[in-house]
Amino acid sequence: MIAADYFDGRSSRRHPVHLGLRDGAVVVEGEFGRRSAALDAVEICTGAERTPSTIRFADGAICEIRDSAAWAAELAGAGIGAGAVASAERRWHWALAALTGAVLIIAAIYAYALPWLARQLAPAIPSAVTQSISDAVLKGLDARLLAPSKTNPQRQQEIAAKVAALGSPGASLPPHRLLFRSAPQIGPNAFALPGGDLVVLDELLALARRDEDVVAVVAHELGHLRHHHGMRQLLQSAVVSFVVGVYLGDVSTVVAGLTTLLLESRYSREFELEADAYAGRLLLPTPASLDPLIDMLLRLDAAHAKSRAADQGGLFGAGDLLSSHPDTAGRVSALRAMKR
Ligand SMILES: [Zn+2]
Repeated sequence: MIAADYFDGRSSRRHPVHLGLRDGAVVVEGEFGRRSAALDAVEICTGAERTPSTIRFADGAICEIRDSAAWAAELAGAGIGAGAVASAERRWHWALAALTGAVLIIAAIYAYALPWLARQLAPAIPSAVTQSISDAVLKGLDARLLAPSKTNPQRQQEIAAKVAALGSPGASLPPHRLLFRSAPQIGPNAFALPGGDLVVLDELLALARRDEDVVAVVAHELGHLRHHHGMRQLLQSAVVSFVVGVYLGDVSTVVAGLTTLLLESRYSREFELEADAYAGRLLLPTPASLDPLIDMLLRLDAAHAKSRAADQGGLFGAGDLLSSHPDTAGRVSALRAMKR
């Protein structure tokens, strides 16, 4: 008989017992009484370093064996040793492998399947839906962050005309509507809403040295529209927050937070490069080529670096073009490569 501690699974009380194998059954005896169970009805785990070997009964009771070596000898003596124990360990290894597999699958869904699905779905979403999302977001922004533009209507029209001229019969621009607003706390920026509303801030006009600079930034935003980046990002985030919400049991706050989510999330590096490439194709044939876009990327980067230093973060601290900050150099060299 081997010394062990028995826990009945209901209280934390430790019962000193002796245990052994008799006729293919585990027998446990002590002051608490006596119980036995067929070997295939218990879970046997041999202890690793410092952890005791255990026998788990179907009702949750556990025996902790202090002398693992004696127990291994007892199992071996009964002719069940290695195999049965190894299978218990194998079970544990399989559980770990299954868990690792599940984590990898979820990561792959998040990194590949979800973006792929969003890419397929976004263009198919009826424009009435994307427009109503845009309207709601714009309404919220106008109420909280944006003020009417002070740019005179004639300059607004000139810029709109130069943007429209970027399109050609062979390459039409995505449906869009230029809107001018002012937002000193956001700083120089422009952003496109999924429905096609493309907001240009007075602060961006102030940073620009000529209309072509503004047109270049708008061309980049048109790239986001052409590739449905806003909607794709919204779909991906919506699925993630929905799943998280269901998991945490709180869907309503998640749904209410979608607007904020759309605004706060930055475009990925891939989206920025895609928008740059689209803008590059539009701007290459123009007299100034890609220089205004390159110039504006660098100036925006510098301007936002300054405002970051002054700690003006907040809702739109990231903004659109700024989101590229760590990668401005990479984007600029990609555009220069396009010029050649
Ligand atoms: Zn962008």
